[in-house]
Amino acid sequence: MNSLSSPPRAGEAVDLLVAGAGIFGLWTAKRAVEAGLKVAIAEPRRPGAGASGGLLGALTAHSPDRWNPKKQFQFDALTELPGLIAALEAETGLSAGYRRCGRLMPIAKPGFLSQVKERVIGAEEYWRVGADQFVYEARSLGEAAPLGWISPEAAPLGAAWDSLAARVSPRAYVGALWAWLRPRVTLYEQAYTGWDGAVVLSDGGRVATGAAALAAGYEAFPLIASALDLEGPVGGGVKGQSLSARLAPGAAAGLGDVAALPLIYEDGVYVAVHEDGTVAVSGTSERDWEHPGAVDPANDGFWRRAQALCPALEGAAVLEWWAGVRPRAAGRDPMIGRLPGKAPIYAVAGGYKISFGIAHRVAQAVVDEIMGASMSAPLPPSFTIERHFG
Ligand SMILES: Cc1cc2nc3c(=O)[nH]c(=O)nc-3n(C[C@H](O)[C@H](O)[C@H](O)COP(=O)(O)OP(=O)(O)OC[C@H]3O[C@@H](n4cnc5c(N)ncnc54)[C@H](O)[C@@H]3O)c2cc1C
Repeated sequence: MNSLSSPPRAGEAVDLLVAGAGIFGLWTAKRAVEAGLKVAIAEPRRPGAGASGGLLGALTAHSPDRWNPKKQFQFDALTELPGLIAALEAETGLSAGYRRCGRLMPIAKPGFLSQVKERVIGAEEYWRVGADQFVYEARSLGEAAPLGWISPEAAPLGAAWDSLAARVSPRAYVGALWAWLRPRVTLYEQAYTGWDGAVVLSDGGRVATGAAALAAGYEAFPLIASALDLEGPVGGGVKGQSLSARLAPGAAAGLGDVAALPLIYEDGVYVAVHEDGTVAVSGTSERDWEHPGAVDPANDGFWRRAQALCPALEGAAVLEWWAGVRPRAAGRDPMIGRLPGKAPIYAVAGGYKISFGIAHRVAQAVVDEIMGASMSAPLPPSFTIERHFG
């Protein structure tokens, strides 16, 4: 329906209340509005306040060997995303900072080189849609990227090149989604606390709704456990730290169009250049943490590793440090769909490291389920509630 003139009024009954305005919640709300539902969002902080407000925005696929339904789902999601983002940008007039820039992974050991050879064949077979064929292949450093982008010492055997990978600016993307939604939904600046026949918010208010979608990032897991009367954790959060930096004057010389440079990935460390020429670097995974958003500048090993991988980063000025918590379900894969029981509560949680690439497809599957429609993009079995709680 997509009507700009009639967002539900505060207090009015809605068809769907989405708890959480991160990438999963925003896409769930958007798909629901597009399906003609009246939608409210409960978000106690602000859109993008959680893990979705970070700096990196790498959109990368699982490796193309040992193919399975999860890889197919993610591939389909990644290949349809540019069209969806272009439409979002056209409707909002805002850029999401998307570019299919490809990815390089240094090859330092013969074992990885053999794996790359297997993946070449997998990509030929599976990384194809319509007229588009994406490749995964070994390249010498000279053909992989401009000299100076990857250190020859870090990549003595060349680099694996993946032409499917892309990047987006997380904050710009979230901002564009929110700009699209703002006139179409009701926002409650409150937390979802539970269900008693209606949604109960943290200020004690109640919202009558046909369904509730729990898309509260890592904080969705206690809500899901409570909805299911489970004592043990059904998921948790892994904290990660990243930064953004500006290249030193002269460092970009010889690198050509800096914004087109490929992502670099090695063993948990990611380097991505954004449209404005800033470079995002990400690389920590902490299971034990106390303060979700607190940056620990001493935890900067990933930054030194990134500089060793990518000589152009030497002398770069750090503009911002950032920390966030990735939602990770106990069963590792995302937890998507209607929870068992009488209440119409749906889980949309646990995207972990790949949320930005799959959120729109996950959201479509949830909204199809809410509408009682057959799923236009069926979920991989490992994402389903039956698999998590069956
Ligand atoms: C350092 C780092 C780097 C990353 N890099 C990438 C990357 O390159 N590519 C990628 O795809 N993914 C990446 N991720 C993972 C990705 O950021 C997350 O998986 C994703 O943002 C999770 O989205 P979400 O919507 O599930 O949760 P969030 O973005 O965390 O949003 C949850 C929202 O729910 C709200 N909320 C909490 N409790 C309640 C409640 N009770 N009621 C209502 N609302 C509530 C929060 O305020 C928040 O706004 C990275 C994560 C980190 C930490």
